[in-house]
Amino acid sequence: MNANITTALCPCGSKTTYQQCCQPLHNQQRLATSPVELMRSRYCAFVIGQFDYLISTHHLDYRQGLTASQLASNKTHWLGLQIINTPLFDTRGEVTFKAWYLEDKQIDAIYETSSFVLVDGCWLYTHGQQMHTRLPGRNDPCICHSGKKFKQCCAKLCH
Ligand SMILES: [Zn+2]
Ligand SMILES: [Zn+2]
Repeated sequence: MNANITTALCPCGSKTTYQQCCQPLHNQQRLATSPVELMRSRYCAFVIGQFDYLISTHHLDYRQGLTASQLASNKTHWLGLQIINTPLFDTRGEVTFKAWYLEDKQIDAIYETSSFVLVDGCWLYTHGQQMHTRLPGRNDPCICHSGKKFKQCCAKLCH
């Protein structure tokens, strides 16, 4: 992995470097301490192509034969992650999020409530329920966490 990735801001939108954020999780130096931390690290793994991590954090009973190479064939251009809600129920948790991406010059999001379960001290993704979302307002903060308005940032990728 090149040094630029480790010292750049983490793709999960945490405002810290990848080195200080999702990298120790991807490298199995430590475990996620909450469903939302696991969710962020899984989004980040999609962005930078840590597909083995996505498999290892997906509960085996829910994986349905999914493999890292199947995930690797997906060439999504990810723009940013918005965490909406993170209810926690003891050894279960949910994370509702919007993961924004660009495809064929259209911006869309995976808008999902993901479910997680704690197994032997390890949070694992089980399954998700997807919903439809609308684009942000033109004057809303951009989905990529740039600090600019949407219309002055990622909205320009659409046309
Ligand atoms: Zn991160
Ligand atoms: Zn943007």
